[in-house]
Amino acid sequence: MERKVNNFDCKEEKDMFFSPHPVKKDATIKEFYSLGTIIQFKVYGNKAERAIDKATDRIKDIDNKMSVFKDYSQLSKINHNAGIRAAKVDKDTYFVIRKAVEYSVLSGGAFDPTIRPVVGLWGIQTDHARIPNNDEIDAGINLVNYKDIILDEKDSSIMLKREKQELDVGAIAKGFAADEVKNVFKKNKIKSALINLGGNIFAMGNKIDGTPWNIGIQDPLKSRGEIVLSISVKNKSVVTSGNYERYFIHNGKRFHHIIDPLTGNPSEKGILSTTIVSDHSIDGDALSTCAFVMGLNRGMALIESIKGVDAIFITENKIVYSTSGIKENLSLLNNDFYYEN
Ligand code: FAD
Ligand code: MG
Repeated sequence: MERKVNNFDCKEEKDMFFSPHPVKKDATIKEFYSLGTIIQFKVYGNKAERAIDKATDRIKDIDNKMSVFKDYSQLSKINHNAGIRAAKVDKDTYFVIRKAVEYSVLSGGAFDPTIRPVVGLWGIQTDHARIPNNDEIDAGINLVNYKDIILDEKDSSIMLKREKQELDVGAIAKGFAADEVKNVFKKNKIKSALINLGGNIFAMGNKIDGTPWNIGIQDPLKSRGEIVLSISVKNKSVVTSGNYERYFIHNGKRFHHIIDPLTGNPSEKGILSTTIVSDHSIDGDALSTCAFVMGLNRGMALIESIKGVDAIFITENKIVYSTSGIKENLSLLNNDFYYEN
C-alpha cells in the first residue's frame, strides 16, 4: 500500500495500516492500536525493528496498568477500592498519579485526575454519549477533588478518600508512554525517531539528514490531517489537546472531552487547541490539558512561568498565539488564521 506523502514529518492520520514496513531506505514504520488511539513509530537505524518490538511491549504494559477501560488495571484497582482501602501500585503508576497531582496543584484544579465520574456521565466517544442533567453534573463534580488522592510513597499505594471517586489518567499517561518509548529507543541505540501516540508526539533527535523535524499542527476546523501550522523541533515533545479530538454535536453545539472541573461541562474558554513543546512528554500532555481548561490568559501565564516549556494556543476567533521561546520555529500555513506575535 502506498503511503500518503506530504511535507510534514508527522500529522495525525487514523486510517493507517498496522504492521512494520520499511517505507524508505532507512526508516521503519509500525502502526498499531493501543491507549485508545493509533500509535505510530517511525524509526531510523539498523536496530529499528528490535527497538520497535520492545517499545510496543512497553506501550501495552502501560495500557494494561493504567487503562480505566480494563477491569484488571492498577487504575481500576484504585477506583474499585475508593473509600475502602489503599491499592498497591507499581512505580510507573505511582509516578504518573503523583505527577497528575502535581499538575492539579500547579493549575489550581483546572487539571484534575479525579474527573472520571463526570467524564463517565458525558460518555463522549461511547455509544451512550449524552448531555447529563444539572443534578447529575452536581453529583459528579462533588466527587471531583484531587486533594482526596492519598499517596503513600513508602507503601507504594494510592487511595481515594471517598466512595465512588474515580481516577482517570487519560490526560497525562500518553505523555508518560511517549517518554518511555523514547527511553526504550535510546537504550536500543536509536538516534532518530518520530513517536506519535495519537497526536502526542515525540521527535527524537534530528531527522536522519541532520535537519530538525517539522511537526504539523492539526487545523482544528478542518478534517483530520489538514495542517494549520508547522513547528520545527529537535529532540522535543509536541502534544496537542483539541476540542476536535473526541466530541459529539447536539443542536449545532459541540460537546467535547476536555472537562472544566469547576462546571462539569466541556471547557468553554474560547480555545480550539493548545499545543505544548517540552523536553518531557508527560509534562506536555498534562500542560496541554491544563492550558486548554485555564484559557488563553491564565494558561499562557502558566506556561511562560515554566522554564523550557512553550505553548501554542489556537482560539475560536482563529488567532494563533505562542509563547516567546518558539516564535522563530513556527510557520503559519493557513491564511484563514492570524498569527498574533
Ligand atoms: P487530553 O487533553 O490529554 O485529555 C483529555 C482526557 O482526559 C479526557 O478524555 C478525559 O478522559 C480526561 N480529562 C478530561 N478533562 C480533564 C481535566 N480537566 N483534567 C484531567 N483529565 C481530564 N480511549 C478509548 O476510547 N478506549 C480505550 O480503551 C482507551 N484506553 C486508554 C488507556 C490509557 C492507558 C490511556 C492513557 C488512554 C486510553 N484511552 C482510551 C483514551 C483516553 O480515554 C482519553 O480520551 C485520551 O487519552 C485523551 O487524550 P487527548 O490527548 O485527546 O486529550
Ligand atoms: Mg493531556
